[in-house]
Amino acid sequence: MIEQRRIVRTALPGPVSAELAGRRRAEVSAAVSGGNDIYVAEASGAILVDVDGNRLIDFGSGIGVASVGHSHPKVVEAVTAQASGYGHTCFMVSPYGGYLDLCRELNARTPGDFEKRSVLLNTGAEAVENAVKIARAHTGRPAVVVFDHAYHGRTNLTMAMTAKVQPYKDGFGPFAPEVYRVPMAYPYRWPTGPQHCAEEAFAEFASRVHLQVGEDHVAAVVLEPIQGEGGFIVPPPGFWRLLREWCDQHGVVLVADEVQSGFCRTGDWFAVEHEGVVPDLVTSAKALGGGLPIAAVTGRAEMMDAPVPGGLGGTFGGNPLSCAASLAAIEVMESEDLAGRARQLGAILTSRLEGLAGSFPQVGEIRGRGAMMAIELVTPDGSKSPDAALAKAVVAGCAKRGVVMLSCGSYGNVIRMLPPLVTAFDLVDDAMDVLAEAFAEAVG
Ligand SMILES: *Cc1c(COP(=O)(O)O)cnc(C)c1O
Repeated sequence: MIEQRRIVRTALPGPVSAELAGRRRAEVSAAVSGGNDIYVAEASGAILVDVDGNRLIDFGSGIGVASVGHSHPKVVEAVTAQASGYGHTCFMVSPYGGYLDLCRELNARTPGDFEKRSVLLNTGAEAVENAVKIARAHTGRPAVVVFDHAYHGRTNLTMAMTAKVQPYKDGFGPFAPEVYRVPMAYPYRWPTGPQHCAEEAFAEFASRVHLQVGEDHVAAVVLEPIQGEGGFIVPPPGFWRLLREWCDQHGVVLVADEVQSGFCRTGDWFAVEHEGVVPDLVTSAKALGGGLPIAAVTGRAEMMDAPVPGGLGGTFGGNPLSCAASLAAIEVMESEDLAGRARQLGAILTSRLEGLAGSFPQVGEIRGRGAMMAIELVTPDGSKSPDAALAKAVVAGCAKRGVVMLSCGSYGNVIRMLPPLVTAFDLVDDAMDVLAEAFAEAVG
């Protein structure tokens, strides 16, 4: 394992990274999202080693993927063994047991003690698309209800479900029909205050669906337990329960999009467990594969079995290498109690971020749960005006000091922290010191 310490020996990005960044412009579509231009050579645990020999603390985890840490030895071992056995046969053509083992794990670990089934796919967007297909097949209804600030992916259907036009949807329409958006229960920005947010947001949801869609036309309500790209928005207590009751009343499938929040990130195996609510379908991806691409839909057997035989699948879905990686990652989450570790990281992050908020009135809100924490940055005049420029400057200031942070949020003014769940506590402290330095520099 690479020593878990931040070491900055060149300017960041360093000269070799700068050379690669120059090449990127000639080789890669300019439309592909760009980050910090610091190119990776090697990674382990919570440390990225760049091509110039710098060691960075990774608070991005490849967008919440590397929860068990980069290149966890157990994952590497499992993938290596699988690759030398067989790499791909396609589960739909020549099946293998790893697919079944992973479905068994998903069925056992997702919330709900009813009978479940799973389907394995490649990406989060594909999982969300399939959850909608399943809900439509089960209900025989077309409509899907989603929320402001939602992020569900970049395919055609999931673009329609994603809220933010820039940069995800601009110029890419027409979008899939029968997707309806309602206001999100966003406590920090709820007009009448956070204490009224759950009831009022639910009333708004129910009224709009009644007036504009019709309950009988709704196949599914899809919501992230903590909204990811939209700004780590945590709905107020009770909001999920109200949605659950409404879905039960109207025969609507409740889908928890746990692509970012699932698999121990928030201190439970799934973030929705915290709400005391059991969804009908759960989508997983990101951390599920321990670094390899894989995704899943898991849920009630009668819903999962509703599509026509052959209606679900795909060439690479549940690829043997990804299944092996995922099974190893789940074993690591269990044996290293990474849910518990996420809670510890959350406590440390919260106390450090509270310190930051004490020094900088631009920190409008600290929110999140476990190792999925964020700060929303605003102008310090009490108006809560989003300050995206500050978020961008702070993230850049962290990068040049050797800490990878990500921004997010509909207004681009949220800095999110998604450290690997195995991150050593002294590295968290170091990263938080860097965040404070970058903040001080950015506010001048
Ligand atoms: C990342 C994400 C997706 C899309 O996953 P991809 O693997 O990028 O397609 C969907 N839903 C949520 C909540 C996500 O965070």
